[in-house]
Amino acid sequence: MADRLTEYRRRRDARRTPEPVPAKAPEPGQGDVFVIQQHHARRLHWDLRLERDGVLVSWAVPRGLPRDPARNHLAVHTEDHPMEYADFHGEIPAGEYGAGRMTIYDKGTYTTEKWRDNEVIVVLHGQQASGRYVLFQTRGKDWMIHRMDGPPPGWSPMPERVEPMQPTGATKLPPDDDAWGFELWWPGERAIAYIEGGQLRLDAEGYPKLRGLGEALAPTECVLDGVVVGFDAAGRVRPPDPDNHHYLAVDLLWLDGVPTVELPYERRRELLAGLAVAGPYWQTPPYFAGGGEFALAASADQGAPGILAKRLDSPYLSGRRTRRWLRVRG
Ligand code: MN
Repeated sequence: MADRLTEYRRRRDARRTPEPVPAKAPEPGQGDVFVIQQHHARRLHWDLRLERDGVLVSWAVPRGLPRDPARNHLAVHTEDHPMEYADFHGEIPAGEYGAGRMTIYDKGTYTTEKWRDNEVIVVLHGQQASGRYVLFQTRGKDWMIHRMDGPPPGWSPMPERVEPMQPTGATKLPPDDDAWGFELWWPGERAIAYIEGGQLRLDAEGYPKLRGLGEALAPTECVLDGVVVGFDAAGRVRPPDPDNHHYLAVDLLWLDGVPTVELPYERRRELLAGLAVAGPYWQTPPYFAGGGEFALAASADQGAPGILAKRLDSPYLSGRRTRRWLRVRG
C-alpha cells in the first residue's frame, strides 16, 4: 500500500545504500525537528528537511540557506524522507541515487508559522541556521527560500569586489626583521577568490581546475587573496596555463560574514591556516615571521624572483600600495 515514503523507497535499494529505508508506513506525529545536510552529490547542495506528520518534508538548496534577506535562493522540493534520516550521515555509493558524501550541517527544532501546499513559513532554532524563513513555490518542484528576519547578528554580506593591496618595491630587506612576515614572491596571476554557497568566483579566467575549491571549503564562505601559478616537474614555479595551475592562498579578507581586513596580517594568516586550503590544485604556502634572509634563499630554490615582506601588524589596505608591504628582489 502506498504511503508517504513510497517515492523514497522506490528510489533506493536498502542492500546498496547505507541510508535508512524503513519498510513500515510512517506514524504521524507532532514533532518539530529540522535538519540540514550538506550533500556532496553530483552537484553540492544542502538538504533542508522539516518534520511534518511523521516524515521529513525536504528541499534541496543548491546555495544553502540565505543569510542575506535581499537574496532568495532556489529550493527544489524533493521526496519526503523518513524520520530516521535526520541522523543520517555517510557515503552513498557511486551509482546509487544521490551518490556522494552527506554530513549533518545543523539539526534542531523549528516553529511553524504557516504551512500550505505552496508556502511554508518557519522559524529555525539551530546552531548554524536560525531565524524566520519562508519557502514558496514558484513552478512545479521549484521553490524559493527567503530569509524574513534581518541578517544574523554580526553578519555582513560578502563584498562584491575587493581591490588587492599592493607592495612597494624595495632594494633591501627591512632592518627590523622580527616585525615582518616574509612570503615568496609568487610570479603568476594575482586573483581574489570569492567563495559562497560552495561556489567559487575568481578574479581571473581560464583555470578550470580551481572550480572545486568552493566545494572543498564548504560550508565555509570566505574571500581569499592569492596568486595563480604553475609548477614544473621539479616543483619550481612557472607561469600558469590552462593545464597547469594552482591557487596559492596568501590572505583572508572576509570569513563567514565577518570582514577580516582590519585584523593584523599575523592574525589573518592564523585564520587562513585554520581553513586548511590544501588540495590537489590549491595550497596555502607558509610565511616566515622574521627570517628575511632565509626567505630570500627559499625563493631562489623555488624559482621565485624574490620575496614579499609584510608587516605582521598591518591591516589589509584594499587597493593601496604602501610600505607596509615591500617587494624585494632576490
Ligand atoms: Mn540531497
